[in-house]
Amino acid sequence: MSSWAEVVGQEQAVGVLQAAAQAARNPQSQRAMTHAWLITGPPGSGRSVAARAFVAALQCSHPTENGCGNCEDCRQVWAKTHPDVTDFATEKSIISVEEVRSFMHAAQTAPSRGKWRVILLEDADRMVERTSNLLLKAIEEPPARTVWVLCAPSPEDLITTIRSRCRQVNLRVPPVKDVAQLLMRKHAVEWETAYQAASLAQSHIGIAHRLITEEGRVEQRYQQLADLLQIENVGEAIFYVEEMLKENKQQVEEELATRNAREEAELKRILGLTDREKVPPAMRSQLTQLQEEQKRRAVRAVKDPLDQLLVNLLSFFRDVVVMQAGVNHPPINQGYQDLLVAVALSSTLQDTYRKVNAIEIARKRLQSNTSVNLIFEALAVELIQ
Ligand SMILES: [Zn+2]
Repeated sequence: MSSWAEVVGQEQAVGVLQAAAQAARNPQSQRAMTHAWLITGPPGSGRSVAARAFVAALQCSHPTENGCGNCEDCRQVWAKTHPDVTDFATEKSIISVEEVRSFMHAAQTAPSRGKWRVILLEDADRMVERTSNLLLKAIEEPPARTVWVLCAPSPEDLITTIRSRCRQVNLRVPPVKDVAQLLMRKHAVEWETAYQAASLAQSHIGIAHRLITEEGRVEQRYQQLADLLQIENVGEAIFYVEEMLKENKQQVEEELATRNAREEAELKRILGLTDREKVPPAMRSQLTQLQEEQKRRAVRAVKDPLDQLLVNLLSFFRDVVVMQAGVNHPPINQGYQDLLVAVALSSTLQDTYRKVNAIEIARKRLQSNTSVNLIFEALAVELIQ
């Protein structure tokens, strides 16, 4: 199947990228190829998939198609093993100067199969200014056959000077029905199941996939909201929040523990130490650096599921607004009719607006250093009033 079939609900962006890939094949128009691309789009819109489809189309060796999805080149791009593609997706919070230097080095190397040398940076927004300036230099003077493809949530996430040197392609939030079709194709599920997952995920493709593949996820999401809505007084609210945060922290710590240990073992191996050996003082700064990175990651990992809970809650009360205002519009929370009706009948539209506002404030505060306990206690109290 064509590489482009992986990109859902993005006809306009796909049109631009396909045209560029087509022009890049033609020796007459090749020289006009843009050497730096910036693909932006909200989380879950499929930025990295769109970027990869584009790279596959550039490298594709099919005689007539661009990004056939079947040739050796296409397959290697998708498997992240193509010799002419330097891939960088980070789970770290920040891309380091050393890493940018390694991309710059790769960018200077000619492609081995005679097409393009591509540097694909999935999280180009995770750079501090000094690193960005280094990247800027590389993008300013690219060798004739090098193409940079950067991805970020929005153009504003990059410094202006980088932004202005890239050709920008913006993805939109894909329509629910397009995400549902993708789920049907990938997971062989019924339309209703696929549509519910796509709708609950509010078109976030990654979350929609998880709702389908991880057993009990849909039920868990429902139960979490149902429990929250049952809170009747401040005492219960505080108890609920404490329990919920404790559980979340524990779960995240368990998930990270194995990974952190693996990274430390890997670092020791690189330093030429055995697993049991202590890191000598001269090498300790590298270990400290890794541990700091792990700490930053843990903070994010704790906040991500909490933000997701707020997003779910927000979607729920928006559905309540729609119902209370008498607007004929299908709810995001498909299958939550009983909860929606109960809340809509027992409160006023004004109450609901106040709750929506409180949730939005909680989301903003979650991005700051405010204690999560304080944020959620305040919110839980708002929701029962
Ligand atoms: Zn191909």
